[in-house]
Amino acid sequence: MDKNILSIKDVRDGIVSGDFSAEEVTSEFLKEAKQKNQEINAYISIREEEAIASAKEIDEKIKAGEDAGPLCGAPLAIKDNLLIEDEVCTSASKLLKDYVSAYDATVIKKLRTAGAVFLGKANMDEFAMGSSTENSAFGPTKNPVDTERVPGGSSGGSAAAVAGRMALGAIGSDTGGSIRLPASFCGVVGMKPTYGRVSRFGLMAMASSLDQIGPFGKTVADAEEIYSVIKGADKHDATSRNAGESQLNLGDPSSITIGIPDEYFSGTGLDDETSKAMQETVDFFRSAGMKIKKINLPYSKYALSAYYIIIFAEISTNLARFDGIRYSRGSNNGSLFDIYMKTRGAGFGEEVKRRMLLGTFVLSAGYYDAYYAKAQKVRQLIKRDFIEAFNQVDVILSPTSPTVPFKFGEKSDDPVQMYLSDIFTVPVNLAGLPAISIPVKGRVDKLPIGFQLIGKHWHDSDLFSLGKYYEGQ
Ligand code: GLN
Repeated sequence: MDKNILSIKDVRDGIVSGDFSAEEVTSEFLKEAKQKNQEINAYISIREEEAIASAKEIDEKIKAGEDAGPLCGAPLAIKDNLLIEDEVCTSASKLLKDYVSAYDATVIKKLRTAGAVFLGKANMDEFAMGSSTENSAFGPTKNPVDTERVPGGSSGGSAAAVAGRMALGAIGSDTGGSIRLPASFCGVVGMKPTYGRVSRFGLMAMASSLDQIGPFGKTVADAEEIYSVIKGADKHDATSRNAGESQLNLGDPSSITIGIPDEYFSGTGLDDETSKAMQETVDFFRSAGMKIKKINLPYSKYALSAYYIIIFAEISTNLARFDGIRYSRGSNNGSLFDIYMKTRGAGFGEEVKRRMLLGTFVLSAGYYDAYYAKAQKVRQLIKRDFIEAFNQVDVILSPTSPTVPFKFGEKSDDPVQMYLSDIFTVPVNLAGLPAISIPVKGRVDKLPIGFQLIGKHWHDSDLFSLGKYYEGQ
């Protein structure tokens, strides 16, 4: 078994045809994960026994001639803000270091039924707040491509696990780019589905109107395999729904129009290398016969400002539940108020505190209209820009990040610099659209760069088909 050439399909075919067992695949990946984790720190915890036990169950099913599911034997990393029953779930926060999940997230249930094996819980920025995974209470994750650089965030552990062959695929969450940015930095594929496509039940909420769960894979096809399993309506999440899948006609490339937003290329801090890589990518699609059209998304320039008001507000309310009584007991001494203060004061990291304080501020009487209500209006305008653009084009192409992966410490002292990394990803969440980050080809021995394809609402499949076309599959 050559694990370097394994895709989810290869694993499934190999196991079903008896070339190798699920246990062998899992053991191989576990070996790599344990050994590399000392340096990369992609996992907060590795579930060795549990993973082997689920792999054995799959092998039993295969022996008995049963269907072991579409992801049969696929070893995955799960971001540590998704609940797995009876297991510790930390969201990379000291406050939750001993918190044990009471139930499985819907996504976890679906993946389990599909035959996936969970290798461990992946590192992340605390409560998914960050763009570099430097905000984890369990230490930063390193980028396997260049260990002096960050893997992106907040799902940095998930992306690094896939890039470092410490997992075949992974699950992350994306509120403002947390799947796509680390995918771009680590040279893997990461996809944020349309808001509502995947159930959020069992995901620790950061900003509920923006959060979506999505897949990571080495290839677009792998990400699609995982996506196909996790999508769909769930009675536990009222925002989730079923929707049909779209189909671009790739047999006739001239029927496809790709939009290039002017505003994403000038005045956004785009570095030269990324700019050049985008040009090459656009040329690829142009020479394939697709139409390339300049479009305008004028309100996108306000996206970061609106985003960093709306999420602060939602964070301040969502994180109020961590009061020292319900999810972890910080102290038994003193009054109820003392317990709140001690637990929250000692448990939350600096970025989380900053966001809760600012969120409380933008929601407070007298400021609500000036900040929060205004940001919500801007959000509608951003969404309208996209809807108008999609009257003229099928898909929008942009960089995923303005820069190549940066070094540790480069932006961690300056929150605004860090927030600027999300400039191309947050408009997509504000509008609820699907988007994928795909590594630009031909960057062997160079730092990875991802390009982003943004689709119409519920046209998630367009991104997979165009992505596979680019990869040449
Ligand atoms: N980097 C963004 C932030 O810090 C996005 C986070 C995310 O998508 N979870 O808010």
